[in-house]
Amino acid sequence: MLLEAREITKAFGSFKAVDDASVTLEQGDILGLIGPNGAGKSTFFNCLTGDLKTTSGCVLFEGRDITDFAPELRAGLGLARTFQVPQTFEGMTVLENVMIGAFLRTSHRKDAETRARAVLERVGMIRLADAPARSLGTPGRKRLEIARALATEPKVLLLDEAMAGLNAHEVRLAIDLVRDIHRSGITLVIVEHIMEVIMSLASRVMVFHQGKEIARGSPREVTSNPAVIEAYLGK
Ligand code: ADP
Ligand code: MG
Repeated sequence: MLLEAREITKAFGSFKAVDDASVTLEQGDILGLIGPNGAGKSTFFNCLTGDLKTTSGCVLFEGRDITDFAPELRAGLGLARTFQVPQTFEGMTVLENVMIGAFLRTSHRKDAETRARAVLERVGMIRLADAPARSLGTPGRKRLEIARALATEPKVLLLDEAMAGLNAHEVRLAIDLVRDIHRSGITLVIVEHIMEVIMSLASRVMVFHQGKEIARGSPREVTSNPAVIEAYLGK
């Protein structure tokens, strides 16, 4: 087992944004995590990565309890993520943004640059290496976030709505990129609202509603599940 979350609860005051959620992730999985807005998907990601401290429950990575590990330490073990709202460093170039990821694996500037250029090549952004990050639109920023995460050489990559705000053509390109990432041996969890993305990428799907898991199964199973349909329509 690569990653396991056991009975995670995250409360903000008396409100439980994530309520007793468990998941296991095996090497090679693409797990889809879906649910209406406010279901607790991003909060759950934050608990996995250590960006938020869990109220209760534990997180294991390759069998090791990482519940109290800082995000950097988890990244060092091979757990990377992108944010729903891209966290790009606006004043830096595209290359420099990716180098920040590469510095997790090397302390030499030249080496970090070589690694970052290889990642930019791989994600099709090498021509933009010297462009300021602030010059990118939404699709570019989303892709840059993925590039920075890849530069940390992760075993597991968590993508939080990496395709939101993209047009149909851009979504197809992003699906191809995720497939390529998966083929390279990286295990993925994807939070995505676009059903086409879940249908074409996820091997298994987990559905959240009001902080709780309400269904899991194949993409086809969950999307025809009455409780899931109701959760979406009820919004
Ligand atoms: P999702 O990603 O599924 O749309 P979130 O995890 O962002 O949902 O949010 C789940 C719920 O937790 C929402 O009701 C949101 O308002 C609430 N929430 C998220 N972060 C905080 C926070 N830092 N403080 C208080 N409430 C929060
Ligand atoms: Mg979210």
